[in-house]
Amino acid sequence: MLLLKRCLLLCCIMLSPMSMAATPTSGPILIQGAMDIETTTLIAALKEKSEVTMGSWSFWKGTINDYPVIISRTEVGIANAAAATTLAIERFKPSLIINQGTAGGHDPQLQRGDIVIGKTSFNMGAYKSEFTAQGKGITPTKWQNFSVTMRLREQGKLVEHNNFAADKGLLHIATTMANSYTKGKVVTGVIGTADEWNREVDRINWLHKTYNTSVEEMETSSAALVAQAYNVPFIGIRILSNTDLHNQDFDPQTAVDCQQFVLDYTKKIIMMRN
Ligand code: SAH
Repeated sequence: MLLLKRCLLLCCIMLSPMSMAATPTSGPILIQGAMDIETTTLIAALKEKSEVTMGSWSFWKGTINDYPVIISRTEVGIANAAAATTLAIERFKPSLIINQGTAGGHDPQLQRGDIVIGKTSFNMGAYKSEFTAQGKGITPTKWQNFSVTMRLREQGKLVEHNNFAADKGLLHIATTMANSYTKGKVVTGVIGTADEWNREVDRINWLHKTYNTSVEEMETSSAALVAQAYNVPFIGIRILSNTDLHNQDFDPQTAVDCQQFVLDYTKKIIMMRN
């Protein structure tokens, strides 16, 4: 009977989404933000702090609730995000990566201050077009999103990615925190990443209709690609700082609110580990 109970307990632990890679086994938690306004609240929360800079990219090492955490200021855009993520993985060997910060709304259901937990992210700025002859014009709505071919070592082969999925365990923990956030809604959704800032409402609506994007921003899928290459659990968490669907301009306070949510989230991950 006792054995049966133990087996059941073990099965529950093994099958529970919370146990899937979400709780770090070793290595620091890496939290990324592109700009100062997206990192200062997190840096201020670190104890036993020290700073490391490599090239243009700064990292703050410290602890939160006695667990090692690294805050990375990636700088803006996909090249910066990829570089900062590669450096961080090589140097600090993080057990998981949280990419967070501001974003622009694509889903009309979402308002400034709402948070999107990225179920997936993808390179929204990668396109290919069909041949058309000179004089036939330019038709962005006919361009097709370009997937990325990754050489994944542990699978020993080339793998096509048209998006990057969040770690299931990390996703589950984030969704359990939805009710504790008081500044807006917390939903899961698709994060579209590109070196773009789109303000044409027709284009925003087209992107949302075509790719089901919840938000757009400039780093998440790029960091996710590098995390995937190294097989490090990853999640993107983005707050709407602006949305032209509701005439809501960029509000820097949202960057602080997102960091506060991510701090609570990080503490929960650490607590579940102990
Ligand atoms: N340095 C610039 C700001 C760049 S804003 C300045 O001070 O004017 C771009 C940053 O905000 C990126 O890191 C991106 O991830 C995020 N962002 C917020 N809203 C966005 C939107 N609507 N479209 C694209 N990126 C957005």
